[in-house]
Amino acid sequence: MQINRIMVVGAGQMGGGIAQVAAQAGLQVVLNDLKQEYVDRGLTFMTKLLERNIAKGKLSGEEKDRILGRITPSISLEDAAEVDFVIEAVTENMSVKEKIFKSLDQIAPKAAILASNTSSLPITEIAATTERPEKVIGMHFMNPVPVMVLVEVIRGIATSDETFKTVHDLALRMDKHPVEVNDFPGFISNRVLMPMINEAIYCVYEGVATPKAIDEVMRMGMNHPMGPLTLADFIGLDTCLAIMEVLYQGFSDSKYRPCPLLRKMVKAGWLGKKTGKGFFEYH
Ligand code: NAD
Repeated sequence: MQINRIMVVGAGQMGGGIAQVAAQAGLQVVLNDLKQEYVDRGLTFMTKLLERNIAKGKLSGEEKDRILGRITPSISLEDAAEVDFVIEAVTENMSVKEKIFKSLDQIAPKAAILASNTSSLPITEIAATTERPEKVIGMHFMNPVPVMVLVEVIRGIATSDETFKTVHDLALRMDKHPVEVNDFPGFISNRVLMPMINEAIYCVYEGVATPKAIDEVMRMGMNHPMGPLTLADFIGLDTCLAIMEVLYQGFSDSKYRPCPLLRKMVKAGWLGKKTGKGFFEYH
């Protein structure tokens, strides 16, 4: 199936990045969020990234204009009526995602594929809210989307081979490296990554060391390009907590228990880079 026009639902850090790489790949993109100001915020951020690439000599001004010209802002899901493919990248919350998939199933053309960029939620369950479960799939980009090459392509129990192939090929077209994964809590990336981040947070909670020291050990001792607490701040502590909850409930195993400090920081609104404060401060 040839994909030409897509909708990205959610213009936050992931949705904005997905819209950018899709437009760079020559696709027409409808970028949707709840309010115009949220879509504008995503577009402003994207423009800054593209301008940085111009300054580095990686992109011309005309290319930037062509990329941005392929993106149409939207604040109504009804705009999905004319797309071949939708990727949802809204808050990591099952009931919010289910509502969106139910609506998209009514609005998008019958042949359209509906994908989720969820970090951890079950694709099979999201698919079951629609009447086209064979056309529902996980397409999990990494953050920041324009930089990271991996995309986990997650098959729900009913996902068809044709849907899988279309999304696999779409990832290649976006210059990404797709990896096939089956539908289990946290897939591969977050099942391995999040318990490490959670353990680093326990180290802060128990007073083992400062956040700076913990990150230093992992960067300089394990050759990680970024410490786990800085990474948690970049991902968003609300998203980290949501993923830990999915692992904890999905496997019913106490080894995935979210650290109480993580819960407390999320309750305080200390969500990391996006709010200016997490384990570190951002100005
Ligand atoms: P974010 O908070 O930056 O953005 C979410 C956006 O969704 C916001 O702009 C919000 O206004 C919008 N939104 C919420 N409800 C909506 C609705 N009903 N309709 C339209 N828009 C709506 O979050 P994010 O970090 O971009 O994460 C989005 C998704 O991507 C989550 O499922 C997350 O788990 C996943 N993800 C995140 C990362 C990461 O590192 N942050 C990495 C991979 C995947």
